[in-house]
Amino acid sequence: MGGLPGGLSRPRAFWLVLGRSPRLLFPPWAGPLFRAVEGAIAASAVAAAAAVLWFRSPVTAGELACAALVGSLAGLAFALAHRPPEHLHPLGPEHAELYALVREVAAEVGVRAPRRVLATAEADAKAVRTGPLRGELWIGLPYLTEMSPVELRSMVARELALLRERRSRLADAVYTLWVTHPGPPARASALALALLERADAACARVVGRETAALTLVRAQVLTNTFLWFTDRYGTPAATALDGFPLDLYAGWRWKIRNDFLAERGWLRMRARIAADQVGAARLRALGLDLSALPGPPAPGERGLPGLRDGLPGSVEARFARHHLRWWLSAGRDLANAGSLRGVPERVWDAHLDGRLGEVRTLLGMPGDAPPRRVAETVAAGWAAGQAPCEYQCPHAAPAVCALVPAIHRILRDAGYAYEDPLRQRVLVGWDGARADVVFVAEAIARGEPVAALLPVEAGRPDVS
Ligand SMILES: [Zn+2]
Repeated sequence: MGGLPGGLSRPRAFWLVLGRSPRLLFPPWAGPLFRAVEGAIAASAVAAAAAVLWFRSPVTAGELACAALVGSLAGLAFALAHRPPEHLHPLGPEHAELYALVREVAAEVGVRAPRRVLATAEADAKAVRTGPLRGELWIGLPYLTEMSPVELRSMVARELALLRERRSRLADAVYTLWVTHPGPPARASALALALLERADAACARVVGRETAALTLVRAQVLTNTFLWFTDRYGTPAATALDGFPLDLYAGWRWKIRNDFLAERGWLRMRARIAADQVGAARLRALGLDLSALPGPPAPGERGLPGLRDGLPGSVEARFARHHLRWWLSAGRDLANAGSLRGVPERVWDAHLDGRLGEVRTLLGMPGDAPPRRVAETVAAGWAAGQAPCEYQCPHAAPAVCALVPAIHRILRDAGYAYEDPLRQRVLVGWDGARADVVFVAEAIARGEPVAALLPVEAGRPDVS
């Protein structure tokens, strides 16, 4: 009996999974089978009750009404429990180009093409097994709209190859454990890395090593910027609207296409990718020297026809709601909808002022310390570690994170206005002067004087 990839023996793998998540020992497609059995049991119970009533004549009208009510409620409960997940959208025959691409890549990898391709709300992609011989491909909407056809080929090749590598039930179970359970043992990580590297190698045979590696980097860039955008814009908007912004995906697309989101945050992102042991090892195995990449991989041509501008509004709205509920761990329904551009400015101000308060606390300053003093203190040296900021923020250094809310408040007090609700780092003064808050913060963090960069004083518009 041979061991599994990564040096894990089968008995050890079995006990590892049994001790942590025994459900994983069943194939994923067993879930629907279990549900079918549940359904059959429920249907048999209803049929038995009807038969008892039928033979025990005469049946009163009240008994019949009760039976009908119970049957309807049971049907409703079953339908609600098994309704299609809101984070998935099956892509139909109108996406023939994508299906052709997937079939072609599957043939080159040497696997059966998945029967269906579905868009998902997450910035992720995976091939899933839906039956002993059947598979599906789930591709995140952010990847579908932003990846070039070449990158899509690379991603599809890797996911299909990875599904093939996971054909052993035990290997698949340990891999899933590694993905879903925090703090997995080292042997699970070794197995996951071995499976991923085999999939990467198969992908490289289809698209070449360089494309395989650069697509991995770009997927990371897309995922990180999408999660940053969710935190920076989606979270305050959801709180203000007590709902969800319908245009979350469209807003992020605008930002990444027109506001250089990936490029601006590259240095910080490159450091984060390099710090991820598994990710960095995969890139090394593909021969990519991450430190030699001066900027994020160029996107080239975006998406396929019919996908690059996103999915129908109703689907994107459903995805946005699902994604924000997951992100906020919301017990809240987020039932009301709205637009990012319809969020009042005081909400955006409050978001950054909250961070300014956290910076003051970290510096041991009183809650009403003037923002200019906060900026000067940070400029004199920031040693408080990671400053409060958004998840996966694009800022070059923690001092920049700490300076941004202080500079924002100084400029807002001086009458500066938002130039665009989706480009909040740019503020416009009463005399038309534009200030890029992040640019100013970077200059101050590099040692340039606060007074030279921020000559404005609070209340200036009132003295004009
Ligand atoms: Zn930051």
